[in-house]
Amino acid sequence: MNTFSGTRANPIRVAIIGSGPSAFYTAEFLLSNPDAVVEVDMFERLPTPFGLVRGGVAPDHPKIKTVTRAFERTAQHERFRFFGNVTFGHDLIYPDIAARYHAVVYAVGAQTDRQLGIPGEDLLNSHAATEFVAWYNGHPDFRDLAFDLSQERVAVIGNGNVAVDVARILARTPDELRQTDITDHALEALAGSRVREILVLGRRGPAQAKFTSAELKELGSLADADVVINPAELELDPLSAEYLRSGESKTAARNYAILQGLSRAGQNGKRRRIVLRFLVSPVELLGSDRVEAVRVVKNEICERGHFMSPCPTEDYETIPVGLVFRSIGYHGVPLPGVPFDDQQGIIPNKRGRVINEHGERMRGEYAVGWIKRGPVGIIGSNKPDAQETVEMLLRDMAFHQHFCPANPAREAIDRLLRQRGIHYTTYEDWRVLDQLEIERGLAVGRPRRKFTRVEDMLSALEAVHHAPVL
Ligand SMILES: Cc1cc2nc3c(=O)[nH]c(=O)nc-3n(C[C@H](O)[C@H](O)[C@H](O)COP(=O)(O)OP(=O)(O)OC[C@H]3O[C@@H](n4cnc5c(N)ncnc54)[C@H](O)[C@@H]3O)c2cc1C
Repeated sequence: MNTFSGTRANPIRVAIIGSGPSAFYTAEFLLSNPDAVVEVDMFERLPTPFGLVRGGVAPDHPKIKTVTRAFERTAQHERFRFFGNVTFGHDLIYPDIAARYHAVVYAVGAQTDRQLGIPGEDLLNSHAATEFVAWYNGHPDFRDLAFDLSQERVAVIGNGNVAVDVARILARTPDELRQTDITDHALEALAGSRVREILVLGRRGPAQAKFTSAELKELGSLADADVVINPAELELDPLSAEYLRSGESKTAARNYAILQGLSRAGQNGKRRRIVLRFLVSPVELLGSDRVEAVRVVKNEICERGHFMSPCPTEDYETIPVGLVFRSIGYHGVPLPGVPFDDQQGIIPNKRGRVINEHGERMRGEYAVGWIKRGPVGIIGSNKPDAQETVEMLLRDMAFHQHFCPANPAREAIDRLLRQRGIHYTTYEDWRVLDQLEIERGLAVGRPRRKFTRVEDMLSALEAVHHAPVL
């Protein structure tokens, strides 16, 4: 049997759904493989690329966003195309793809939040941190949300990096925020914020917190916010002490040392306070129509199998707060016509090959990134993950395990989108928007001012495309 590795005249055609890090790493591995000729079309529901690098990574962490320079190089490849403002499951469906490509890679990330499952979760002023993050970063679906920043005391539930991002953004001064690419609407709202105390509530102990050390350390250098940690909450139970002593996790030991340092530094009379609390699990949000308090149960660390887990005690505490951000993780959402594991919030797969509920392989379908392995890991974690998926895909191609597209011509998809009246954006369009955002920022001494409405993006492009050439 002849193997299929693509030729210039008859390349392997791959559709990638989504344009976050996992999508770009997948494109990079597909396009740079010396033994295959692959054409990549990337479909993104927003007019702009880069997923959570644009819509998740905190605005005061600009260095992390420079990863897009590598994505930019991939986008310049002659066999790469970007189709923005195209939603899979709405503008395009599975049969459209199977009729035009040899394979599809789902790289749609985890688009919603996990629920706490406690009474009062849906009270007013209780929000998913995902919404707040998307709002301050200018995701068009969330830009019209409003957060009651007239409250003085806020609880952020969770002990990961997203919780720390949220606490830090709430604690920053308007001057600090103005130096970032935070959206205009968020800058204005946060400048008027009356928040004074931000409680970060973690269900585990200080030895198990999931922060990265750099993020934790950064809390100690905010212009106008002190970090407060009750030394009693840093006292270690025997299991945690043994865990740190064993040297099993360097990060845990580093984090613990940073927490001790922050606790010792004490308060310096700054205007805001970030209070880190440990071993507390919310059991209820209290209030008549809006949040007035969070009731927590105090935990102790116990051993469950090989794991140290937070186990509830009989001890409860009610903490008055007027605003709550729940930051306990993201969760994937199903795509129409694509297998989905509701429990884990992922597309079920074996090493990136999509499988159905009977464990059978779905020919031509692959997954990558957070929708493949769940919402864990940093941007770089998506690279080896993408490499694995691409290896599986190219191996399957060689054995003709792919879609048999009736219409594999390159123009077929453009024609279909035009017939459907879908106003898609290209990578060139994104470069125009990028430049416009930077210029709009420069005009007011900021690094960038983002467009936050799809209509505004499309009309800005329209204006540029129809501007008279001088
Ligand atoms: C708040 C937050 C902050 C973070 N900060 C950092 C950090 O500082 N440093 C770091 O290394 N990592 C950070 N991460 C982790 C990092 O962002 C992820 O590892 C990475 O973005 C996951 O990549 P992905 O491609 O799987 O998903 P995503 O980045 O979420 O990309 C998915 C893309 O798919 C698109 N999409 C979804 N559905 C459809 C559809 N139906 N049709 C078309 N397109 C669709 C989405 O619009 C999106 O563009 C952060 C994560 C979060 C949530």
